[in-house]
Amino acid sequence: MDDPQNETPPPVSHPVNEDGVPVAAETTKVCPACQSMLSDGTIENRSVLYCTKCGGVLVSIAKFLPLVEYLRAVWGSTGANIEPRDNADADRHFTCPLCDRTMMGHPYGGPGNVNIDTCERCSVIWLDRNELRRIAMAPDHYSLYSKYDPGGGLRG
Ligand SMILES: [Zn+2]
Ligand SMILES: [Zn+2]
Repeated sequence: MDDPQNETPPPVSHPVNEDGVPVAAETTKVCPACQSMLSDGTIENRSVLYCTKCGGVLVSIAKFLPLVEYLRAVWGSTGANIEPRDNADADRHFTCPLCDRTMMGHPYGGPGNVNIDTCERCSVIWLDRNELRRIAMAPDHYSLYSKYDPGGGLRG
């Protein structure tokens, strides 16, 4: 006797790490900071490449500010524990995990006071874990794009 059962598949759950980043499969992309394999991660439905070893994140420039907003909400209650900027990272040269070209370092001039690394070819930003945290904790919305904005206060 057939007794059809309406089976509901179990919900797909990815393990969520301490940063609130659900991490899925490992990719073949290499972490620019520690040379581990990056994993596909998702932060609030935005796909990122996440390093499970060092906590760095590769995110597209378009997703960067929404990501910061989200992490600010996640981390906001944990209290800022921001170390002073380490100027040593101003001289680093990371290799873009996507195109293998050298990434450009930019000072991120907000109160978070970090150097971020971008690949303009791929439109991605690499953020070390502590950089992400510092930017997320920064109390304003100082824009990465302000220096590219011809009307944004840069005068020649
Ligand atoms: Zn790493
Ligand atoms: Zn690239």
